[in-house]
Amino acid sequence: MKQLQQILSQIDGKGYKAYKKLQGQCFQFPGFELCFYQVQGDPFAAPSQVAVRVPQKNAAFPGESYQPKIRQVALSDYLTRCFHENIKKHARGKRGSGKSGALQIDRPGQEVLERTSVSVNEEMLEVRFFAGLPAAGRRVLGREAAEMFLNELPGLVENSLIYNNLHQKELFNHVYTVENQQVMRSQLTEKGLIAFVADGSILPRRSGVDQRALPADQAIAFKTPPELAVELEIPHGGKIKGMGIPRGVNLIVGGGYHGKSTLLRALEQSVYNHKPGDGREGVVTNQEAFKIRAEDGRRVEKVNISPFINNLPFGQDTAEFSSEEASGSTSQAANIIESLEAGAKVLLMDEDTSATNFMIRDMRMQLLVAKEKEPITPFIDKVQQLYRERNISTVVVIGGAGDYFDVADTVLMMETYRPFLVTGEAKEIAQKHPNQRVQEAGDSFGELQERIPKPSSIDPTRKNKVKVKARGVEGLQFGYEDIDLHFVEQILDPSQTRAIGDMICYALRNNLIDGHKPVKDIIDQLDSLIDNRGLEAILPNPKKPRGDFARPRPLEVAAAINRLRTLKVVRGTGLLTTF
Ligand code: ADP
Ligand code: MG
Repeated sequence: MKQLQQILSQIDGKGYKAYKKLQGQCFQFPGFELCFYQVQGDPFAAPSQVAVRVPQKNAAFPGESYQPKIRQVALSDYLTRCFHENIKKHARGKRGSGKSGALQIDRPGQEVLERTSVSVNEEMLEVRFFAGLPAAGRRVLGREAAEMFLNELPGLVENSLIYNNLHQKELFNHVYTVENQQVMRSQLTEKGLIAFVADGSILPRRSGVDQRALPADQAIAFKTPPELAVELEIPHGGKIKGMGIPRGVNLIVGGGYHGKSTLLRALEQSVYNHKPGDGREGVVTNQEAFKIRAEDGRRVEKVNISPFINNLPFGQDTAEFSSEEASGSTSQAANIIESLEAGAKVLLMDEDTSATNFMIRDMRMQLLVAKEKEPITPFIDKVQQLYRERNISTVVVIGGAGDYFDVADTVLMMETYRPFLVTGEAKEIAQKHPNQRVQEAGDSFGELQERIPKPSSIDPTRKNKVKVKARGVEGLQFGYEDIDLHFVEQILDPSQTRAIGDMICYALRNNLIDGHKPVKDIIDQLDSLIDNRGLEAILPNPKKPRGDFARPRPLEVAAAINRLRTLKVVRGTGLLTTF
């Protein structure tokens, strides 16, 4: 600590580069160690990466707070939030030019994700965060830096990272709430379910930019229709009652503004665990559920969309369909096929964001436009084949096309934000008023082929330097390219985008993308690498862990690779048959 003080007073008033002296150094404080992993080059650059390491003999977290793995994820998330709150309380914030004096830690949203901001094990607790090293203009403000690290930081550590100083009941509630969700999710498949929504859940959010639960006095709590009631066992709290959404083809119908999309969004986002107080702590969805939507304008590289699209004008190939600018329907078809290729088990679709001509073609349109002139086989004719042949379940929000009653296994109606099971009525209506459309699908869903990315088509460099940068949850700068992730709706945290960028780079550096492995193998190998060695393993320099990565699902990594505009693939010989 004294040594740091000395350095800071030595370099006080010097040029900003003098801070580089700190790079790679660790300083012993009473009860913890402060390390400077990466020192910024100037006060306006990204802030410096620092870490605090507290030995467990001081931090004293009991084993049951971070074992097994899921508790470690939850505890790390909790401590990240504590640290963030305490920065606000204990640190003065900006002092000087640029990012001078700011302390920042990655900030989790409503989801509890595996992240690199805090790592915890039997020996050590390590917190990685960012510090803007203070300057006036480009001169070192040594005294301000001393204030940050020598006065503010010890209080911050004391109040956020020492078990005995924390709100232990709240901490364990956080950990157990997250563990409950993981256990609930793991019970879905054996119970024949693809999702579960607990009674009393609050699904609506405050606004498009505020993902917290709508306050209880404005929200209608979820109430299970009796026919779909199920009970799941949870490790902390006994049993939990709610609605089980079964495998198969599920429709969500109901009047406009009655809560259909809100329910679907809750299902989409509950592939992740939520923090206590979120309102969706009792909502879990199959881990491999993927949101499908139309995405016109996206690029598509050699995807076999022939199950849905055939006979394009001018004989364009749909068994190896490529486009620089796909249409609504072809993009939605490609999104489905690519997600199946990446291992999706459940497809979630909303009419609000689907291409109408992809979803349905009614009798009158069939009479006017002959099948030979219409390239699209609508989803309605494929959805049961997907389920029967490939065990892919769906949840489709549809308010305007009753033709879907014929193909649905379960019909759920939302009425003033309450769900009712109406499968019987829907089937009766379908019988009384037979649908006169002609079934357009062939005998089977069709074949799916593996695609193998060519490593030469994936280049993260710009002027010979790796340049990969996340743009929030919307996209990723990748070398000279921009990967548009705007419509990959289940990326919820900017730190996931960052991780995706580095995972692709890792896969290139380590020959996972080698011109022989199909997409699925690449993303699975990345995922097991993280399982075995932690999220830190993907960093370019694992010895200097950055604190701003959160784990994405393999499905989102594949989605990013598929949206790289330079991507070239070759067809594998393998057929994807079993799911
Ligand atoms: P739909 O898709 O059926 O047209 P939405 O799901 O978009 O309807 O919901 C319409 C509005 O109602 C949204 O502003 C949403 O936040 C709100 N809402 C949804 N569910 C609830 C609920 N359970 N309680 C209160 N408001 C809700
Ligand atoms: Mg809607």
